[in-house]
Parts: sequence; structure tokens; C-alpha cells
Amino acid sequence: MTIITRFPPSPTGFMHIGTARTALFNWLYARKNNGKMLFRIEDTDRERHSEEAVQAIINGLNWLGLDWDGEIVSQYARRERHAAVAHELVKNGKAYFCYCTPEELEEMRTRAMAEGRSQFYDRRWRDRDPSQAPANIKPVIRIKAPLTGEYIVHDHVQGEVKVSAENLDDMIILRSDGVPTYMLAVVVDDHDMGVTHVIRGDDHLNNTFRQNMIYDAMGWAVPIYAHLPLILGPDGAKLSKRHGATGVEEYRDMGYLPEAMRAYLLRLGWSHGDEDIVDDSRALELFDLDGIGRAAARFDFEKLNSVNAYFIKLADDQRLVDLLVPFFAKRNLTVRPDWLLRLMPELKSRGKTLIQIADESEFLLKLLPLDFDEKAKAQLNVEGQAVLSDLIFIFQNIDDFLQKPIDNACRQLADEKHSGKLAKVMMPLRAAITGRMVSPHLPIVLEVLGKDETLNRLKSALNPTI
Ligand code: GLU
Repeated sequence: MTIITRFPPSPTGFMHIGTARTALFNWLYARKNNGKMLFRIEDTDRERHSEEAVQAIINGLNWLGLDWDGEIVSQYARRERHAAVAHELVKNGKAYFCYCTPEELEEMRTRAMAEGRSQFYDRRWRDRDPSQAPANIKPVIRIKAPLTGEYIVHDHVQGEVKVSAENLDDMIILRSDGVPTYMLAVVVDDHDMGVTHVIRGDDHLNNTFRQNMIYDAMGWAVPIYAHLPLILGPDGAKLSKRHGATGVEEYRDMGYLPEAMRAYLLRLGWSHGDEDIVDDSRALELFDLDGIGRAAARFDFEKLNSVNAYFIKLADDQRLVDLLVPFFAKRNLTVRPDWLLRLMPELKSRGKTLIQIADESEFLLKLLPLDFDEKAKAQLNVEGQAVLSDLIFIFQNIDDFLQKPIDNACRQLADEKHSGKLAKVMMPLRAAITGRMVSPHLPIVLEVLGKDETLNRLKSALNPTI
């Protein structure tokens, strides 16, 4: 049997982190088992529908590096097929036309509320002869829910979940205007698309019972279900904006790498022994439904940072430079790819996100005169300026402007004029070159900037009007 999973988001305008995790789990399960992951857009809400919202989901998947098989399926485009199934169920005696007026329904609702019942519809059209149908009312189609017994869902994560028949109503599957309900559309699509495994958030668990009524009525085999526990914020409440970013693209813009996001989302609900970071190749080897935990996972921003730092260290230097371009563009800085590339081995161990790396390296791209922060300004006092003048003279005479001779020259100056205290030389130098007091290893920075730029920076620090 070919395993077929599906990713059926409703286009809400962005890709929620929980949706991204669902996509990842479906993708891993399909890929691990040489199966397929199908992609369906649940775009039946036409009032709120927008193509940008659909594109946001596609962009999210693309950024996460998750691909799908076949064409993207539009649920809305399949509405006639959904309606046809509803009519077929009526023909087979599994569903029926209901001609209740809004007033009748309201009355039933009020009565049910007063009696504390959650199911209000009294099934008055279930067995009534259609010849009694009023001519002026367009009927809905309702499914015949079981009247006794219980419905059982065997869920791969939640175990056996039961609901008794009295909690299931004769739900509407086709509205009076001929529009299929969500429950019907999902089942018909999953069946027609050959979906074997439904892996989705456990907020859909209750829908499963109702959806299974449709499977049973049609005589279709139900898929295997795995309902994933919710993602909570660090404080244990449902993850929301209050906790920080909830959209995938926000994580991209904060400088997380897609492979880090995948590894982090994977551990948010799935584990294998005590393996800490499971990268793609390992995940494709190990992913299974048994490893999905039953407890809700808490989003831990610090852990995400450490996973991201891990993947930044492993990432290709040129790729990191390319990824940094938009971050610098936002700061109106033009990238010097050669400089960034040469400094990248140093930079990549200094940042947990691309934003942090941009913070660490933006001094490279700044035009003179630099803005000096307060601590840097303090270093450019009379004493510091004397150091810079000495350094200008010394650096001018270094032919091979490389780390080692630069380092040696700084040490020699410290020995000769500052009782061997290297910091006395390096602190004003750092201030002059970077405008601040934290930076990557200076001799490397100077080598990357080259002699001319280094001298220009030192001179500019001595006389900012130059
Ligand atoms: N469209 C639903 C959602 O975005 C998913 C439905 C399902 O997985 O069955 O939550």
C-alpha cells in the first residue's frame, strides 16, 4: 500500500507554526515511507477567500523546504462532486432532505437549551415521507447519525476514543443553497485523493467522529488517524501572539534557518530516545507515528535559538551570506559579499540567528564616519588617539596585511609602549574599526577589511570630518 498523507490548510493569510508542524509531520511520514504528500487548499470560505492568503501558505511550505506531490487541489473546485455524494447518500437511504424552517429550528434550539441538551435537532424529517415536503422551502441534506451504540476512533496518538450515539446529531452535509459543508468536503476529498493517513491537530479530533459517519454511510474505509497535541506557549497556555511570533514567515524574518525550524518543529511533539537534535536525514530514517507524544508540547524560544545556532554553524558560508542580504537591505546597507564571506567562519559561531549575525557584522558595511557608541567614544580619548596614531604608522609599514603580522604588530606596540597590556591597544583599535566594543577577533577583521579601509577607519576615528 502506498502511504498517502495530505496537507489541507485553510488559507488564513499566514502559516501558523502549528500548521507548519502538521505539514512537516505529514511530509516526513510520506517521504520516510516512499509515499506521497498531497496538498489541498480548503478554500470553501469564499467571502474571506484571497489568492494572497493561498500564496502565503505556499510560500511557507516552500520556505520550510517541504514539497508535495501532484497539483494543488482546490476544495472549492470540487464542490459539485461533494454535492453529488450528498445526493447519493439520500438515494441510498443514508441521508435525507430536511425542510425545517428557521423558526422551527430556533424553537428546537431553545427547547434543547432549556433541557440542557447539546443536540437540538429532533430528526423530524428523518423518516417522514418526502411527499410531505413543503413546496416553498429549499431543503438541506442531513446525514442519518447512528441512534444507539458508540462510535470509536482508533487514533495512533490518542488511543481509542469513544463517543456515544446520543452525542452525534444528524448533521447537515449539504446546505439549502447547495453548498457542501466542511465535514462532507473533507471526507469526500480525502477519499477521492486516496488518503491513507490523516495526521492533523487534535482540535479536529471531535470532527473525526462526524466525518467517520460519512465514511461509513458511503461504505468507504476510514483512514488511519494521528491527532497531534496542541502547541502551547512557554507558560502552558495555548500558543498565541501574546507569546511572540506565531507565523512561519515571522521566524524567517527573525533569522531562523528552515532546517533549524524543521528540526525544532519535529521535536515539538515527536522524539526518538533522547536524541536532542534530529536533522533531516536522521528524521527521514526514524520518523514514525509511535514517536508522537500525547502531551501538549511547549514552545521554548531558547531551545529554538540553540537549535538554530547549531544549524548556522553547519551551514555553508556562501549560503549564509546570501541569506543575510535582505537583512542588510532592511538596514539600508549594501552587502560586501567578499568581506562577509571571509569573516563568516568567525561570524557563524557568534550568532544564534541571522539577525544576530547581521548585528555582529554590520559595522563592516557602514560608511565612514562611523557612529560610535558611548563605550567606543570613551576609548577614543587622548590616550586612545595616541594609540591610533601609532597604529596608523605601524600598519602603513606592513606589506602583507594579514592576521598574523597585524597581531604581532599590535603585541609589539603593547610591549613597547603599554607595559605589555594588549587591551590598551586593542580597545581603541576596536572602537575605531567597529564603532563599538564587541566584535569578532580584530586581526581577522582587519585582514578582511584590508589595509586601505583599515587606515581610513583609523584616520576617520582620529578626525571624523575626513
Ligand atoms: N483545513 C483544516 C485546517 O486548516 C484542516 C482539516 C483537516 O486536517 O482535516 O485546520
